[in-house]
Amino acid sequence: MPFSLQGIGVSRGYAIGRTYLLQRNQLEITEYTIPEAIVEDEVQRFLGSLDIARRQLRDIRVRIPATSSRDVAAFIDTHLLMLEDATLTEAPIKLIRARRCNAEWALKIQRDSLVQVFEQMDDPYLRTRKDDVEHVVRRVQRILVAEDPTYLNDPDYAELATSRLEGRIIVADDLTPADTILMQHQGVLAFVTEYGGPLSHTAILARSLGIPAVVGARSARAYLGHDEPVIIDGRNGVILVGLDERILRYYRHRQKEERRELRELSKLKGKPAVTRDGVTIGLQANIELPEDAASVREVAADGIGLYRTEFLFMNRSDAPDEEEHLASYLHVIKTLEGSPITIRTADLGADKQVDGGRGGPVCTNPALGLRAIRLCLKDLGMFRPQLRAILRASAHGPVRMMIPMLCSVQEVFQVLRLVAETKQELRERGLAFDEHLPVGGMIEIPAAAVCADLFARYLDFLSIGTNDLIQYTLAIDRVDDEVNYLYDPLHPAVLTLIHNTIRAGHKANIPVSLCGEMAGDPRYTRLLLGLGLTQFSMHPTGLLEIKRVIQNSNVAELSEAVRHLLRATDAEKYAAALKGIAQN
Ligand code: PEP
Ligand code: MG
Repeated sequence: MPFSLQGIGVSRGYAIGRTYLLQRNQLEITEYTIPEAIVEDEVQRFLGSLDIARRQLRDIRVRIPATSSRDVAAFIDTHLLMLEDATLTEAPIKLIRARRCNAEWALKIQRDSLVQVFEQMDDPYLRTRKDDVEHVVRRVQRILVAEDPTYLNDPDYAELATSRLEGRIIVADDLTPADTILMQHQGVLAFVTEYGGPLSHTAILARSLGIPAVVGARSARAYLGHDEPVIIDGRNGVILVGLDERILRYYRHRQKEERRELRELSKLKGKPAVTRDGVTIGLQANIELPEDAASVREVAADGIGLYRTEFLFMNRSDAPDEEEHLASYLHVIKTLEGSPITIRTADLGADKQVDGGRGGPVCTNPALGLRAIRLCLKDLGMFRPQLRAILRASAHGPVRMMIPMLCSVQEVFQVLRLVAETKQELRERGLAFDEHLPVGGMIEIPAAAVCADLFARYLDFLSIGTNDLIQYTLAIDRVDDEVNYLYDPLHPAVLTLIHNTIRAGHKANIPVSLCGEMAGDPRYTRLLLGLGLTQFSMHPTGLLEIKRVIQNSNVAELSEAVRHLLRATDAEKYAAALKGIAQN
């Protein structure tokens, strides 16, 4: 009897094959105090396990297919770097010496305190980075508890490194980046995990490796048998079970169509995004890590419309200094070879992840608290090095600076004053920068969208952050599962605010871009074109599909349809107008 399971589709494509259920033993960590006399032996045992973990990861790194994008290796490099970082190497040793706890326990204590910091973070992307800590710690702990801890004897590692997985659909609770790479190397067809969301490692890696994947399929291992024939629809998050010949025939056909479609899309690389009536649209990419810049080039985007710099502040107790900021920006500039880069200043939440105290008292509602530009203006010791670095980077390539979460123009004035002061400082230090560095702002608070005219007077460009704009307009926490169903980009209030912002930019003759998730979702492309948007910035993987929609659209017709939509006086007319635009 056919039935289906539902998860979150995070990497498009169909896979037809048999399951391989990954049932890993729970790690049993025993906690005990060691005698003073063998404390140093315990330290050596810990150091030995770090060494084996590094060898495992290096071994995995060389297995990454040469055709994979560079961000695949970046995941492994992040874990290798963490194995060198004092928070995971020196801190546990201090605990072993001070508290005489065994190495597994020391690592657990340190893991718990790091994970707590990540969990308090406001930004969903950064919050998922706690998985890195979990994965690295679990790897080292597995080695510590193994009887014969040489890296090839690690049973989990050995299982994934064998060819028994070829042609299989892996079903697991969760996967580490290293697992994902190892299995891809063995010819795995698709991934299904019980945990994780669209920003989880498995999701990001599966997209980079071009493997269909469904995450967040709760209890999948309870419903699916080992070696059971299934079909995975990685776009819609569906796992089909109990297949008959008719279903198989249908999905084999869909699979063929999908492959043809992906081949067609890849032909659009490097082609201009021009609508049928001749309007040229800019398609830029969003990145989180300097290493992501490689994937921007792979889809030939028109530069970076949003470089989130929060990653620089992570896994550390102090804020990055000017040189660290600069090194990251120069890496991106070098990779982009002359395409424009929009660096967003730190959009840190009201949580205390940076130095455990900067944000003041515990905040009951972090989304409405001291975050982003508010935090930066309050903590100039943290903000000034970033300003200096952005300005210095602007001497090496076409850089723009973007301010997140603007609420009042007073904040713009403060930032512009700081930029002027920083320029003067750099002149005195004899350092080069672009005298005309464009300074733009994100419109993601409804108040700013309503008064977009005012912001447009003082800024060089605007970028609409729909992720937050929708959250604040509709009073829906964007990461709260309970109210996710209300998260509606098509709400008339949201569209009115987007429209107002685009019009304000046009009137002031400054560019307006949109860099929230809406920009990369083909369901909204026509609507945004009709609203007058000419600059989109999105995750690089969605760029070619959006380009195709643009090439098949007519802006003049869509603008007319959007005019009707915004004038719709009842819900029925509104829905009909939306439908018309989607099918235009
Ligand atoms: C947004 O809010 O739409 C945005 C792009 O910024 P972030 O998702 O980083 O908050
Ligand atoms: Mg935002």
